[in-house]
Amino acid sequence: MTTATQSTLSINTPMMNEFEQVVFCNDARTGLNAIISLHSTALGPATGGCRMWNYESREAALYDVLRLSKGMTYKNAISGLNWGGGKAVIVGDPKAPKNPEMLKRFGEFVERLGGHYITAKDVGIGSDDLRIVKTKTSHVLGIDGEKNSSGDPSPATAWGVYHGMRAAAKHAFGNESLKGLRVAMQGLGTVSCSLVEHLTAEGAIVIGCDIDEAAIKKVTGKFGIETVRADAIYDVPCDIFSPNALGATVNAQTLPRIKAKVIAGAANNQLATSEIGDEIMRRGMLYAPDYAINAGGVINIYHESRVEGGYRKAQAFEHAGRIGQTMDMIFTRAKAENIPPHLVADKIAEERVKNASQAG
Ligand code: NAD
Repeated sequence: MTTATQSTLSINTPMMNEFEQVVFCNDARTGLNAIISLHSTALGPATGGCRMWNYESREAALYDVLRLSKGMTYKNAISGLNWGGGKAVIVGDPKAPKNPEMLKRFGEFVERLGGHYITAKDVGIGSDDLRIVKTKTSHVLGIDGEKNSSGDPSPATAWGVYHGMRAAAKHAFGNESLKGLRVAMQGLGTVSCSLVEHLTAEGAIVIGCDIDEAAIKKVTGKFGIETVRADAIYDVPCDIFSPNALGATVNAQTLPRIKAKVIAGAANNQLATSEIGDEIMRRGMLYAPDYAINAGGVINIYHESRVEGGYRKAQAFEHAGRIGQTMDMIFTRAKAENIPPHLVADKIAEERVKNASQAG
C-alpha cells in the first residue's frame, strides 16, 4: 500500500483523487480543529478510530489522517469485513485535560456524516472521551464498560497474530505447529502479553525485549521467558521475528541482522518501505503483511455492530482466528504468482474494493 510522502502532499497530488470525502471540522468556540477522512465507503461505512495528537502543522495532520484512513480500507477489505476505511484526527495535546464541549462538537460533525463514518478509540482518545462524543452521535464503537461493548481489542489481535504465525510456519517450515520454534518478540506490551501466552502454551521458545522495565517484568513474571536488550533483538537466532512495538523496524539497517525465516507480528507499518518487502522475499524469508495479520482487533469490534445478535466473544474470536486462513491464501497466491506477500495483500484488498465499487 503506497501513500505519497508528507513533503509531496498537495491538493493536486493524483493520490488525492483516491479519497472519497475529506472533512475539515473547525469550531472557534470550542477550539476543535479536526479532520475526518473517508477513504472509501465501497464496502460499507468508513470505519476507523479517532486520534488526538499535537501535530506540528495542518499538513502533518492531513497527511496522517489520509494515510491512516487508506490503511483502514485495506485492513477492513483484506479481513472480509463490510466496512470501508475512515479515520479522524483531532489536533491538540492528548495529555492535557480535554474540553468536553470540543468532543461534543466533534460528535456533531460525525453525526452530520449520517453514519458514513464510524469512529472509535485510537492514540490519545479513550473510552471516557468517546462517551462524551456519543452524546452527539450514535456512530461510535468500542467504549469499554458499555452494554454490548467488545472491550479491549488486544487479546483478539493477539489471537489473530497467533493464527497468522501458524499459517506462516506451515509455508516456511512445512508444519503449522510452533512447538520448539524460537520467536524473537520486539515489544512486550498489551498484545504481546496475550501472544506470549499462546506461544508458550504451544511450546514455542520466546525471547523478548522492551524499552520499558515494567512491561518486561510483567511478561517475564507470568511466563518466565528469556529477554535481551532492545537493540539486540535483531541479532537473536530465531525462526520467527515478531515486531510488536513500533512501525518501520524492518528496514535496510535491521533486515540484514534478522536471522528468522518468518517475520510476523502485530505492529502497524512494519516495513520501512515497500522495497524492503521485496528484499525480504529475495532473501528467501516470508513476511506476514501487517494489516492482514493484525486485524483481530478490528474484527472484534466489527462484531459489536454488524453481527446479528450483538457482540459475542466466542464468535468474534472464532472470526479473528480465521486470519490464519487469510494468511494461508496470501502466501499461496504469493508463491503461485511469484510476488511478495505484501503486494498480494494489497491486490486482494484492492480487488475487493474495486468489485464493490463496480457493483455500485
Ligand atoms: P503497547 O503500547 O501496549 O505495547 C508496545 C510495547 O512496545 C510497549 O511496551 C513499549 O514499551 C514497547 N516498545 C516501544 N519501543 C520499543 C523498542 N524500540 N524496542 C522494544 N520495545 C519497544 O501496544 P500494543 O497495544 O501491545 O500494540 C503493539 C503494536 O501492535 C503497536 O504497534 C500497535 O499499533 C499494533 N496494533 C495493536 C492492536 C491492538 O489491538 N492493541 C491492533 C492492531 C495493531
